Amino acid sequence: MSGSDRKEPGQLLREADLAMYRAKAQGKARYAVFEEEMDEKATRRLDAENRLRRAIRRGDLTVHYQPKVSLRNGEVVGMEALARWADPERGLVPPCDFIPLAEETGLIVPMGEQVMREACHRAATWCDEGPPGCEPVVVWVNLSPRQFHRADVVGQVCSVLEETGLDPWCLGLEITEGVVMDDAESTIETLKRLKALGVRLAIDDFGKGYSSLGYVKRFPLDCLKVDRSFVAGIREHPEDLAIVHAVIALGRALGMAVVAEGVETADQLDLLRDIGCDQGQGYHFARPMPAGEASAFLAAHRDPG
Ligand code: C2E
Ligand code: MG
Ligand code: MG
Repeated sequence: MSGSDRKEPGQLLREADLAMYRAKAQGKARYAVFEEEMDEKATRRLDAENRLRRAIRRGDLTVHYQPKVSLRNGEVVGMEALARWADPERGLVPPCDFIPLAEETGLIVPMGEQVMREACHRAATWCDEGPPGCEPVVVWVNLSPRQFHRADVVGQVCSVLEETGLDPWCLGLEITEGVVMDDAESTIETLKRLKALGVRLAIDDFGKGYSSLGYVKRFPLDCLKVDRSFVAGIREHPEDLAIVHAVIALGRALGMAVVAEGVETADQLDLLRDIGCDQGQGYHFARPMPAGEASAFLAAHRDPG
């Protein structure tokens, strides 16, 4: 080793640590040798984490809303709240670029709380502004595994509802199959307590994860959201059509509404309507939009009945 290569003990330990994390990430009984690229990656990650932390603190996170439309009458029956990061340097950052990091670092908890609070405030104004006799619009918020499995998720939902005065029936929570597969007994307990508050529950991206139909039977769900990968192929691939058909039949038999995600064309919409799907969501109706635009969209697509 030349003089310039000699490293401080602290640096050596840090590098050994990074190599250990890499080995752990690759599975059990592995080893990894430190490489400079690990250091660069760790630095980039730390930088991203700090920026996200700052964004949450400063309120740079915002919420966009995407309508859920009844396929029976075209009325908007819900709005899904989707987080966006308005980064002063990088513009609007999509969730796929920060939700995994937020989940890994635990920042999803304060972030998710902000999204839920903002969405419930917005939904409360939609309830107040809605024409008399109109069905209330349900605002749907995504809950990640980490948010769902934290000790006080029920308390958190409760306090947001209290603070915003939103009727619990106007709040829906979307959870993924990953959430319900872990730790089934405590999961069912949490779902029951959430249900007892009066909120609605949906399984997001249904069919994409490790589906066990057992949980669909046991859990108090209101809604199944068919993953958009099946909807995308519904015209071209008979297998996709068969799967969507089966999910609709399942939902109907168990008293759950079925929502098709990722509806992009009029063709897909017609077919989904023909086979009895309850609701649709996707670019064909509207892309996720800022709150002001969502309010205008809602005003134009609500039917006082
Ligand atoms: P998701 O909950 O399944 O949300 C649907 C995603 O599909 C959204 O992406 C939406 O913009 C996109 N989408 C909607 N219609 C179409 C379509 O017709 N075609 C295509 N190709 N895509 C469509 P987005 O907003 O990028 O969100 C991605 C994911 O990030 C969400 O998937 C959700 O899992 C997660 N996410 C977003 N906001 C939050 C949040 O506040 N909390 C948590 N925990 N997760 C969130
Ligand atoms: Mg969702
Ligand atoms: Mg989804």
